[in-house]
Amino acid sequence: MIQRSIATWQDLSWQEELELLVKTPKQLLDLLELGDDLLPAAERAHAVFPLRVTRSFIARMEKGNSNDPLLRQVLPLHEELDNTASYSNDPLNEIHFNATKGIVHKYHGRVLIVAASHCAINCRYCFRRTFDYSGNRMNKMDWQHVFDYVRTHDELSEVILSGGDPLGLPDSTLQWLITQLDDIPHIERIRVHTRFPIVLPKRVSENLVRIFTSSRLQPVWVIHCNHPQEIDSEVSKAMHSAATAGITLLNQSVLLRGVNDAAPTLVELSNKLFRNRVLPYYLHLLDRVTGAQHFDLPEAEVKKIYAKAQASLSGYLLPKLVKEVPGEPAKRIVA
Ligand SMILES: *Cc1c(COP(=O)(O)O)cnc(C)c1O
Ligand code: SF4
Repeated sequence: MIQRSIATWQDLSWQEELELLVKTPKQLLDLLELGDDLLPAAERAHAVFPLRVTRSFIARMEKGNSNDPLLRQVLPLHEELDNTASYSNDPLNEIHFNATKGIVHKYHGRVLIVAASHCAINCRYCFRRTFDYSGNRMNKMDWQHVFDYVRTHDELSEVILSGGDPLGLPDSTLQWLITQLDDIPHIERIRVHTRFPIVLPKRVSENLVRIFTSSRLQPVWVIHCNHPQEIDSEVSKAMHSAATAGITLLNQSVLLRGVNDAAPTLVELSNKLFRNRVLPYYLHLLDRVTGAQHFDLPEAEVKKIYAKAQASLSGYLLPKLVKEVPGEPAKRIVA
């Protein structure tokens, strides 16, 4: 392979940029000119859940700032290694709902499909950090079972592609999936949950947008943006092109200590999202997954921050504050 300099990642295709992900703590700390103080702990936490981040996302981080809100989402820290008894590897009890391979069917009317086994970045707080993706990797036969499941459950009106990140699949695969789902009469909507528009915005090509807007199904993308600094001009361009073509854009965030745990940050995030055609949808409380305890905030503090944000936002720009409680028929509205 031709040796490419980091300075030219902007010119790469999205697939090439994925091949050039930063995957070691040393590389990330060097790029951000952070020295080696954090390195030994980062290496240890990285051995448990690997670091993975795009050049594009790194470019939006502030050099020399170890508390940068984007960096904190991806850098392994020693805090991850403190085990806390009330945290588990499967806090949402997904194993229980994972009856047909690739399918998580918890809620009425919609079904989630684990369509992809990787993400463009690994978020340190991810509740699927220990999900058995290899046991859920889908071949064509598995997909047939998924389509059969969806076809025989005629109470379903929406299929949600999740993962991993479904926009990491090739265009041809997405086109094929959408064509298959389009053929099932009771399905009205296709939703994807994705961080690609934020962490690798060049993924939002004209062709991708066309694939989602050329079928009978109404397309919804739920992007995942936690902090206003994540939205730069490239992200903005991607959002505008998807929205203009008719894709409904929603955002979900997770409330994270040290990242977005302040009312002004949440207010700025909502306003900036809407300026870029995205409606705030959910603000999630952290799922109590092992290794993420340092991101947690007491619920009383969360409610204070949320009430303060509410006082500064138009009603439709206030995301619903929710948490996931295993066994309940929907996400629980906290406030
Ligand atoms: C969150 C979630 C959904 C979607 O729920 P909405 O409230 O409609 O956004 C669907 N299936 C599973 C398994 C989920 O965790
Ligand atoms: S993009 Fe989503 S699924 Fe992937 S690591 Fe981040 S939070 Fe988890």
